[in-house]
Amino acid sequence: MAGKKYQVVVIGAGASGMAAAIAALEEAKGKVLLLESNDRVGKKILATGNGKCNFTHENISIEHYHTDDRGVLDSVLSGFPTGAALAFFERLGMCAREKNGYFYPLPETASTVLDVLRLRLSELDCDILCKIRVEKIEKKGEDFLVSFLEEGKRCHVSAGSVILAAGSKAGGFLQDKQEDPLRLAKALGLRSTALYPALTKCVCREAHYYRQLAGVRAQVRLLLYAGRGEHKVRRCAEKAEYGDERYLERAGYRAGQCAEKRVQGRLAERDNKTEGVRGGWELLRREAGELQLTKEGISGIAVFQLSGEIAEKLAEKRRVVVEVNFLPDFQEDELEGWIKKRLSLLPGRSLEDFFLGVLHKKVLGVCLQAEGLRGDMRIPCENDETDMEHGKRRYDAAFASEGKRCLSAEKRAFIMIASVMKRAMHFTTEVTAVSDMKQAQVCRGGLLLSQFDEKLECRKVPGLFACGEMLNVDGECGGYNLHFAWGSGVLAGREAVRRCRGIL
Ligand SMILES: Cc1cc2nc3c(=O)[nH]c(=O)nc-3n(C[C@H](O)[C@H](O)[C@H](O)COP(=O)(O)OP(=O)(O)OC[C@H]3O[C@@H](n4cnc5c(N)ncnc54)[C@H](O)[C@@H]3O)c2cc1C
Repeated sequence: MAGKKYQVVVIGAGASGMAAAIAALEEAKGKVLLLESNDRVGKKILATGNGKCNFTHENISIEHYHTDDRGVLDSVLSGFPTGAALAFFERLGMCAREKNGYFYPLPETASTVLDVLRLRLSELDCDILCKIRVEKIEKKGEDFLVSFLEEGKRCHVSAGSVILAAGSKAGGFLQDKQEDPLRLAKALGLRSTALYPALTKCVCREAHYYRQLAGVRAQVRLLLYAGRGEHKVRRCAEKAEYGDERYLERAGYRAGQCAEKRVQGRLAERDNKTEGVRGGWELLRREAGELQLTKEGISGIAVFQLSGEIAEKLAEKRRVVVEVNFLPDFQEDELEGWIKKRLSLLPGRSLEDFFLGVLHKKVLGVCLQAEGLRGDMRIPCENDETDMEHGKRRYDAAFASEGKRCLSAEKRAFIMIASVMKRAMHFTTEVTAVSDMKQAQVCRGGLLLSQFDEKLECRKVPGLFACGEMLNVDGECGGYNLHFAWGSGVLAGREAVRRCRGIL
């Protein structure tokens, strides 16, 4: 192969590179070379969709993507809707199965997707070289000279067009962990954005809660807030003011004072948050779906969808808070009626038993703790005034300022339950980090899309194309990223051949 002249050389044999090579070969049965640095093609595909490969979505549109050039992206997506992705794979011999708008290969194995791509490349007689290191891409007149190392030997090939499809470090599938997939593009003078891990889990500040919450899965609604302006780390004393358990003793509060301070702190924190959400916080996004709790923080699809934005805000040194609603089916204005009805149905139960069948036990435990309550406390009822010492003190203290020191049992019961439910509906957690690129499904950022035209040809290096994740385009969970890889790959492959046809 060395010294040969190709119509198109594709760098990177991931989803987008393989789609590009197939499209190029189907457009004109010329010569295409696919260069891959790993020991085999399409490794990442095998890991997608938990091994099932969610390869497209029924609802492909620009709202599900993040990029710097919506015009170019819109053009790429409109030229390759869901039907085009399904037709592309049908031509390769793969049937699809749809579940809630997500498409999978009929046998529900990611290896099917890779197998049909490899088979088609072989039918089209594509030259493929694995375990190579591309050293340099140079423009020589109308052509490109691509230099690479194959088993330590320096080789050169020339090409009418080059397609960059080197993807990203997300998922940790690069053979050479030090390799920068954008290296060759940067050497050609292309510009890129900052890179962030996206579609990944988040680490939260309240480690003491997550140790208890690990393993919980729940359908929730999430609100993502970022603090306005740069975050200055709160001092120990300030943290203690807000009832942060880990700082109370360090800030000099004696054991006896801690419990009281915790209660005051939580109430202050809540007031502050309500005020903050209006004043000092910016609501960035709403999301709904599955939440998974880990011993370090929050995960699951709903969190994945927010993670790219969270990573960006943290990099801007802004504080990030996620508000979790663990009771998304409840309306705030219906709470009062619901609580009163349930109290009349289940009089005299402990708090733990009252919430049985409503909230996950671990979530309840943390909400109770945050409210200064315990699961074994009996909910006060008219004939039962004896066992509420702790709860009574806590609420009497909280409402002392309103002159409600002596609350009736009914009122106390209502306040207790409402406070736990509100805590569960507005559970706020501060995100301190997103996990690293290796654990992320995609990379947010890449080559600025605005450097490419609607055929994905580089505006300043004619004949150079790019596709897939190395471009500054990332999509939500649900098949959007692979869809973009196929769509941009097919477009770049076809246009790369069309461009060099007149030249070769
Ligand atoms: C665990 C996981 C699960 C996912 N699940 C889904 C899902 O279900 N649905 C979905 O839509 N998306 C999913 N994604 C995202 C999706 O897999 C990627 O967006 C997509 O594979 C990107 O394809 P790509 O070809 O652009 O890049 P990549 O897949 O990164 O491929 C780039 C290729 O280029 C090679 N390469 C890099 N540099 C060079 C070089 N200098 N020379 C030669 N070769 C080079 C790499 O080795 C790699 O093989 C998932 C990702 C991960 C990590």
